[in-house]
Amino acid sequence: MSKSNRRKFLRQSVAAATGLMLPPMLIGCGPKKPAPETSAAPASAPGKENKLGIALLGLGSYAKGQIAPSLQHTQHCYLAGIVTGSPEKIPEWQQQYGVKDENVYSYDTMDELADNPDIDVVYIITPTATHRDFAVRAANAGKHVWCEKPMAMTPEDCQDIIDACQKNNVRLSIGYRMLHEPNTQAFIALSKKKAFGEFTAATSLAGYAGADPPTDYWRGQRAMGGGALYDMGVYTVNGLRYGTQMAPVAVREATQLRPTEVDVTTTYTLEYANGLVADGKTSVVEEMNKLRIEGASGWHEMDPMQPYAGVKGMTSDGTVLGPPIDGKQQTLQMDDDALAIMQKAPVLAPGDMGKADIAVIRAIIESAETGKRVAIMS
Ligand code: NAD
Repeated sequence: MSKSNRRKFLRQSVAAATGLMLPPMLIGCGPKKPAPETSAAPASAPGKENKLGIALLGLGSYAKGQIAPSLQHTQHCYLAGIVTGSPEKIPEWQQQYGVKDENVYSYDTMDELADNPDIDVVYIITPTATHRDFAVRAANAGKHVWCEKPMAMTPEDCQDIIDACQKNNVRLSIGYRMLHEPNTQAFIALSKKKAFGEFTAATSLAGYAGADPPTDYWRGQRAMGGGALYDMGVYTVNGLRYGTQMAPVAVREATQLRPTEVDVTTTYTLEYANGLVADGKTSVVEEMNKLRIEGASGWHEMDPMQPYAGVKGMTSDGTVLGPPIDGKQQTLQMDDDALAIMQKAPVLAPGDMGKADIAVIRAIIESAETGKRVAIMS
C-alpha cells in the first residue's frame, strides 16, 4: 500500500469508527492505546523469525473467533496483516494483534500486497461466493493462498483459483481443519488400510439446530453460497472422501428442504465405482454429527466428526480414537500449511480436493432439482 493510500484508508477507517474527521498527521501516529483489560490475547510483537506472515482477508466471526486467536499459538506463522472492507474494525484488530499500519489493506488496495514482503500468505475468510475473486487477486499479488471451505461456488471457479496459483507459482490450501485433527487422522489411517475389510456402507452427517438463515445475511442467500449444503454439507462430502479414500462417481438421489431460497436440510446418496453406496445428510436446523464407515468385518466412526473441539472416534473392536483434543485444529492446520510452504511439501487439503468436493455439491443440487441420478464430473 502506498503511503498516501494507507493514510487515506486509515483516515477513512478512524473517521468511520469514531465519527470524527481527524487531520492526516494524527492518523496511525502517536502513542498506542493500552490494550483493554478484557483483551483475550495481548498484542504480540510479531516478527519474521522464520515464520510466515499471514494476512487475514475478511474479519468476520470465523476470523475473529477462531483463526486470529489460533494464530497466536502457531509456531511457523503469525498474524502480520489484515484485508477488510470494514474500516471500523481496523483499530480493534491493530490494537489487539499489533498489526502495523502498512500491513492494513482494503479490498480496493489489496493488489498492493504485491509490494509487501511482510505478507507471505493471504487467508481468505469471506462469504463463499467471494472466494474465487479474492483468491485469484491474492495469487496475482504473488502471495500463497489459504482459502476457507467451501472452496468456491463452482468447479470452474475452483479451477480459476488453482490456475492462478499455478501461474504465479504460489501454494494453495483449503481450510479443511478436520484433516489436521489428530483423532480424525487416526480414523483416516484406519480407512487407508481398510482395517475392517472392504467397505460395505458409509454414512456422513453434519448439522446443527439453528434457525432458518435470514435472507438479508449471506448465509441465507443462494448466490452468496448460503444454505446447509455448502456450509455444513461440504464437511459430509469431504468426510466421505477421507472416510472411503474414494471419489464418488454419481449422486443417486437427493432432496433439499428449502423454506426460502437456500436449503436448510439436504439428504443425498452417493455411488462409487466399486459399488459402494454412501448416505449423507446435512442441516442448519437439525443437530447431527457422525461419520461411519462399515466394513466386511467391523466399522469405524467419528462421533462427533467436526466440531471445533471434542472430536473423537470409535471402532467395532472397542478402540477409542481419542481422547478428544480441544481447541487446536486451526493452529495445527495453519502450522501444517505453513510448513508445507517452507518445505515445499504437499499440503493435506489441496485445491483439487476442494474442487472435487464442489463438483459433488453441484451434482447433489442438480439431482435434488431434477429428481434424477447425476454423474459427477471430476
Ligand atoms: P461472517 O459473516 O461472520 O464473516 C464474513 C466476513 O466477510 C465479514 O467480515 C464480511 O464483512 C466480509 N465480507 C467480504 N465480502 C463480503 C460480501 N460480499 N458480503 C458479505 N460479507 C462480506 O462469516 P464467517 O462465519 O466468518 O465465514 C466466512 C468464511 O469462513 C465462509 O467461507 C465460511 O464457510 C468459512 N468458515 C469456516 C469455518 C471452519 O470451521 N473451517 C467456520 C466458519 C466459517
